[in-house]
Amino acid sequence: MRYPPIHLLPGQDRRLRAGHPWLYSNELRMDAAAKSLPPGEPVCLFSGDGRPLAIALFNPHSLIAARVITRNKDATIDAGFVERRLARALRLRERLFDLPYYRLAHAEADGLPGLVVDRFGDVVVCQLNSAGMAELEQLIVEALERLLAPRVIVLRNDSPVRELEGLALETRVARGELDDQVELVENDLIHLADPLGGQKTGWYYDQRDNRAFAARLARGGRVLDLYSYSGGFALAAAAGGAKAVLAIDRSQGGLDLALASAARNGLSEKLAVERQDAFAALEALAADKQRFDLVIADPPAFAKSKRDLKPGLRGYRKLARSCGVLVAEAGFLVIACCSHNVPAEAFADEVQRGLRDAGRGGRLLRQAGAGPDHPGHPALPESGYLKCLFYAID
Ligand code: SAH
Repeated sequence: MRYPPIHLLPGQDRRLRAGHPWLYSNELRMDAAAKSLPPGEPVCLFSGDGRPLAIALFNPHSLIAARVITRNKDATIDAGFVERRLARALRLRERLFDLPYYRLAHAEADGLPGLVVDRFGDVVVCQLNSAGMAELEQLIVEALERLLAPRVIVLRNDSPVRELEGLALETRVARGELDDQVELVENDLIHLADPLGGQKTGWYYDQRDNRAFAARLARGGRVLDLYSYSGGFALAAAAGGAKAVLAIDRSQGGLDLALASAARNGLSEKLAVERQDAFAALEALAADKQRFDLVIADPPAFAKSKRDLKPGLRGYRKLARSCGVLVAEAGFLVIACCSHNVPAEAFADEVQRGLRDAGRGGRLLRQAGAGPDHPGHPALPESGYLKCLFYAID
């Protein structure tokens, strides 16, 4: 199969050759032919001196104009190709997990640029976040049917990143019917998720291992779970033997799921929830001289773009300070950052500063990222977005 040619500008092929999967529009010869290609079309990338390099999915309207899908210049992007990529992603998860609850496809890192698939048993939730994946929708849905025979396939195509690709925002059930919450199993606990109305795909699988570790720190103590959403950390802590857990989030929908999940696991007595702004709650708890043996803070991205980096870093410092004040003597702090613009070292520095501001010292027990069903693309630091730090506080 010969795809339309797109030429890199002279000298712009170094990153691609080093393994990076993206070409920005200012690195490509955007002539009239290129500009008139339909968004999502497969193209063959050529170096400035005319040698074929890779096949990419092209979008003339996006800053990320080409996303490499294969280095095999003779490949055809068809049903078989899509199914092989998804089957490879599935084999990896089946090796990692005993039960069918995981992120099945993590975009670029799984060779499917812009595609996220989360699996909740026989309910599969997709996010098609690039024009290339949007064009492949039909093939993706059919491949998932062949590989998993799921009862339901949901397309959560409402992520704001789709706007950067010129794609409409919508949520749709592509196969089957779904009018309710789904159950998932994580670290031996049953959680409820809402794939249609919840955040993102309905569940944050990336924190699985960090929840398990936090649960070990919770034993016998009083726990505060800030930015709790549907209680992922809160329930893990309760099941891990916490005496009492207070979960705070500004989303009532999330907290309702947390309460329902607590009931489902017989943990209702341990869990209290409060719908509140996290910083307001931190202030009120400090004024009230409350102390917790374990404080967990898993906020949304404070630095959503490079421009927000400085205020974002200040936000993490302030969060660490406010949480640090509330940790009881010989307690623990778990603090996470999901801003892909914030490097791990910068985040750790701000947390350290915040703890000093609070007059607290401690030891760093563990520095972790997302679980292995969220593999990183080796040449794309953004794909290692999650940082989670565990401190033992003096
Ligand atoms: N800890 C959760 C995931 C958190 S996602 C888990 O383990 O699944 C981030 C959460 O922060 C979202 O649920 C969002 O509702 C909440 N949030 C965002 N801004 C907030 C604020 N200012 N105060 C309280 N919660 C906030």
